[in-house]
Amino acid sequence: MAFYKEMTHRGYYLGKGAHGGDLLGEITDFCKQRGITLGRVEALGALACAKLGYYNQNTRKYETLTFDQHLEITNLVGNVSLKDGQPIVHAHVTLADDKGAAFGGHLVGGCEIFACEFMVQAFDGPELNRGLDEQTGLPLWNEK
Ligand code: ZN
Repeated sequence: MAFYKEMTHRGYYLGKGAHGGDLLGEITDFCKQRGITLGRVEALGALACAKLGYYNQNTRKYETLTFDQHLEITNLVGNVSLKDGQPIVHAHVTLADDKGAAFGGHLVGGCEIFACEFMVQAFDGPELNRGLDEQTGLPLWNEK
């Protein structure tokens, strides 16, 4: 294990995302407005359309997958930490189509909410910051 930091539980928030809102934007704004810089995120619901990121480990670039269809949010799990001094939500989602087939990936902007119930668990603890990780090219957590 490279490193870890210990957090303590501050509180839970359960909320409803706005119909027509952007899934990542709604959760990120919620955290920013409440000063949540450390946390855990979960959600379920449905999307009118979706975009997901896939990190190509060879090119070290995100590729965008576009789904122009209605989908269920069968799972969203993520966390809240800091990047450049601002709260950032890093989440991955699994989405299901009208046949129950699932797609998944890194949550990016462009997922339009049809319905969404989310939960944020806020933590207190030492700052957890993202910075460029040379081994992966990703903005991962660092010890500072
Ligand atoms: Zn990711």
